[in-house]
Amino acid sequence: MIRANWHTHTYRCKHATGDVEDYCREAVLRGLDVLGFSDHAPLPDGRWKNVRMEMTDLAGYCAAVVEARACFPGLDIRSGLECEYVPEFATFYQEVFLGEQGLEYLVGGAHWYPFEGGWAPLYGVPMDGPRLRAYTEYLIRSMTCGLFAFIAHPDLFGNAYPVWDHEAQACSRAMLCAAADLGLPLEINAYGLRKPMLETPDGPRHRYPWLPFWELAAECGASAIISSDAHEPEDVTADMAAAEDIARRFGLTVITDPLAQPARTH
Ligand SMILES: [Zn+2]
Ligand SMILES: [Zn+2]
Repeated sequence: MIRANWHTHTYRCKHATGDVEDYCREAVLRGLDVLGFSDHAPLPDGRWKNVRMEMTDLAGYCAAVVEARACFPGLDIRSGLECEYVPEFATFYQEVFLGEQGLEYLVGGAHWYPFEGGWAPLYGVPMDGPRLRAYTEYLIRSMTCGLFAFIAHPDLFGNAYPVWDHEAQACSRAMLCAAADLGLPLEINAYGLRKPMLETPDGPRHRYPWLPFWELAAECGASAIISSDAHEPEDVTADMAAAEDIARRFGLTVITDPLAQPARTH
């Protein structure tokens, strides 16, 4: 069993429950050694604020993580944020999140992607080839920017692009080869295993993890990190064993400490 989860939220993002100490308590009960907090980062212009913390919550969030270390000395508690890669805010992420606030890591998590001059959502709008290619380019830029310790749910596009066709394979290969080249772990996100299944022309499947994507990941030499993406304290290790099974089944290398290996930029 993997005893580290680097993807954890708190009530501050407005679609999770519980605070840092509630997740730590559950983590200890469930035998974790490492618990990383990566709540949804606030953006300086207030963008997408209905699913992320407010800028005014940031200091309290960082303080809650630091305070928890004294209460749970047996648990290695790590501090981070899950961020959309927005190029104009890259310096802000570096200077404020990693600098001023002293956070230890950032997770690159795409829930939108740039398309035709705006941002298209990965939920609610089906993807065609051009959209999938735009997502792919964006995700690769997120990888190469050098800000992120790992990339969350890279296969989330499967939520909007239901069929594993030539386009899906070509785009996946491009993402996976980029990650392998950079030595950047990609997340097998167990939250997808707890969500309602997606009906597709090939039958029902999980929205993510998308199995053929991970099979191809092994072929491309990409490494994986397993996370619960907990949005409720009792989910702090939820479905991680099943996500780990996916990695083992395809022979993927599983990273348990993404901060131990320096991310490389090109
Ligand atoms: Zn979330
Ligand atoms: Zn998340």
